[in-house]
Amino acid sequence: MHTDVIQRFYFSGQPVRGAIVKLQNSFVESLNGHDYPPFVNALLGECLVSTLLMGVHLKHQARLSLQARGNGVVNLLMGEAQIKSSHGELTQHSIRAVARLQSNEKNEPDEPLLPLNKLIGQGHLAITIEPDQGERYQGIVEAKKSSLSACLEDYFQQSEQLPTVMKLVTSPTIAAGLLIQRMPSSDDRAPTNLIEEDNAWQEISALAATASRDELLSIDNETLLYRLFHEHNVNLSPAEKISFDCSCSEQRTSQALLKIGFQEVSKLLQLDNEIVMDCEFCSARYRFTQLKLEQLGMDFTEKIQP
Ligand SMILES: [Zn+2]
Repeated sequence: MHTDVIQRFYFSGQPVRGAIVKLQNSFVESLNGHDYPPFVNALLGECLVSTLLMGVHLKHQARLSLQARGNGVVNLLMGEAQIKSSHGELTQHSIRAVARLQSNEKNEPDEPLLPLNKLIGQGHLAITIEPDQGERYQGIVEAKKSSLSACLEDYFQQSEQLPTVMKLVTSPTIAAGLLIQRMPSSDDRAPTNLIEEDNAWQEISALAATASRDELLSIDNETLLYRLFHEHNVNLSPAEKISFDCSCSEQRTSQALLKIGFQEVSKLLQLDNEIVMDCEFCSARYRFTQLKLEQLGMDFTEKIQP
């Protein structure tokens, strides 16, 4: 069975598109070193899978992230995917993830499958698309449903007017998912065609909804799609690879330091001679002395006031 792959698919003659994804190494590596409780690992798996499912139909290279923020046990969940613009067997997309929890340990649920809205509390989901070229886009939806997939289905229905079925499943070592989405049909369609399209969508979305957790976790994409949609003509695109890859760097981390301001940075340097910053996603450690920061372009001579 191929894992760490995503595949797009289309239904011949119908304005319906889909994608199916299965993560294993990239999922496990994204969680490595974090030591999150199992329910957070599961949520991050869903986050990563849905981020990929939402991003794989983009036409241009972009960074796409899904963030859930709230006042519950889980303060922040974030999955991020770097989507490559080329499509085909050699395409490699990358992912990373992070979560922040309330420090109070007695708040930690024993049950691994508490509803999303209970874990996030009062909060929202933000979908952000940052194309390498072009404008940043952000869509927001309330995190008030019991699952991430239900919140995202709402988002697509309300914000994009795209009826959507999304299935997200995880085990401790695998995260998988399925997306089916109805595209706007062209305006010149005859009303009879629209009724046919409505019927086809009803049927295809109902079939997609029957995909079970076990099937999504353990059956290869081609077999599963055949099992679900064998009465339809499905065109499956070549598998595209997914890997864990953190995009942090010394340069980027120093940019974050710039944001807290020169005064603050020089104060920290006076206290300790160096500033240590850990990447929240991959735990890489960056150390900045004044000399290092000057080499990276931070100008201390003019900015520091006596
Ligand atoms: Zn990193």
